[in-house]
Amino acid sequence: MALADELRDDVLDRFLRYVRIDTQSDRDSDTYPSTAKQLNLSHLLVTELQELGLADAALTEYGYVFATLPGDPDGPTVGLLAHVDVSPDAPADGVQPQVHANYDGVSELVPGLAPDNSPLLAERKGHDIVTSDGTTLLGADDKAGVAEIMAAVAYLVRHGDVPHATTRIGFTVDEETGHGTDHFDLGEFGADFAYTFDGSEVGEIENETFSAVELKITFTGAFVHPGYAKGKLVNPIKLAAAFVDRLPKDTLSPETTEGMEGFVHPLTIRGDANSATVTIYLRDHDGDKLEEQDAFVRRLADEVAATDPRARVTFERWDQYRNMREKLDERPEVVEAALEATRRVGLEPRLMSIRGGTDGSRLTEMGLPTPNVFAGGNEFHSVREWASVQDMALAAATAVELLKTLAEPRWRTA
Ligand SMILES: [Zn+2]
Repeated sequence: MALADELRDDVLDRFLRYVRIDTQSDRDSDTYPSTAKQLNLSHLLVTELQELGLADAALTEYGYVFATLPGDPDGPTVGLLAHVDVSPDAPADGVQPQVHANYDGVSELVPGLAPDNSPLLAERKGHDIVTSDGTTLLGADDKAGVAEIMAAVAYLVRHGDVPHATTRIGFTVDEETGHGTDHFDLGEFGADFAYTFDGSEVGEIENETFSAVELKITFTGAFVHPGYAKGKLVNPIKLAAAFVDRLPKDTLSPETTEGMEGFVHPLTIRGDANSATVTIYLRDHDGDKLEEQDAFVRRLADEVAATDPRARVTFERWDQYRNMREKLDERPEVVEAALEATRRVGLEPRLMSIRGGTDGSRLTEMGLPTPNVFAGGNEFHSVREWASVQDMALAAATAVELLKTLAEPRWRTA
């Protein structure tokens, strides 16, 4: 039996168990993790890892699950990572997963999800497709990755005679809020390099991400009772609106760019009579172009503030993550092993760049090279999210092949 076929039932079983647990994160929270309920899944994973015999499985102080699968003592220690939280951008409470067995390749599975608007679905004729009931997200991002890593570990525990690399397992929190690695202790994790299983289409290995900055731009004016405000009031809400209006409409925006083109994207606007703040995302694969965006956006804001001597503007910058490409290119064997493992499960691997970031972007920057491997989910962060069971099984098989590959002499120097 092909490896993926052998893993399929276990992956599905775990996936259905994990998606029912609400682990939605919250961008506006000040706690870490941002929501305590994420740990409901983390605690379950600790228990399941211990039951598999990974004696050191435990929750870290900040809510990460770390565990060791002992392997080849002479080769590299390899990290496998996935995040337990799901996106705040769609309802996530009470997920009711549905398995559509042997999909006919044409039917609408939940409202709005059909091959017309999700082309990959047509290619999944004959697969077993998992969706939510259409009222919540599914949580394949990234519980597909969690289930695949767990199934791969369970396989290697069952087949104790299969040589594989020493493996560190890490399940993180708060990836979706951009804080997935804030308290990730590389020394405590102790891997030489790692892989996130947080990608999408089977066969895709992502070695390049955006570089990302969040800029908070705050306008203040002059507050006066509006009934007696003639010649005195300067309204910060109007300043913020004028700034947003100056942003380019035909270029440099998410709705007009693709591929390697960057963008600036106003995410929120909040204000009252005293001040108004626009939070804007700056995104480009090229670090120099990102700095040009920063200067450009500040200039637009300064121009708006200059329209009235009583107006003020201040900036607060957060460097969110960096493109992982440059650092990964210094360690080509890390990506090469993922490509090789993908070939060994019978897929043609494709190197991809993401128009976004992963936990691996930050980890790579911090010194742990971490490309992103496909996990098989699609239409992330929406109620139309879906995953093919066969694709998830291929991703789990890729994890197994990766750990086997990295225990071979050729990779010892990695
Ligand atoms: Zn994800």
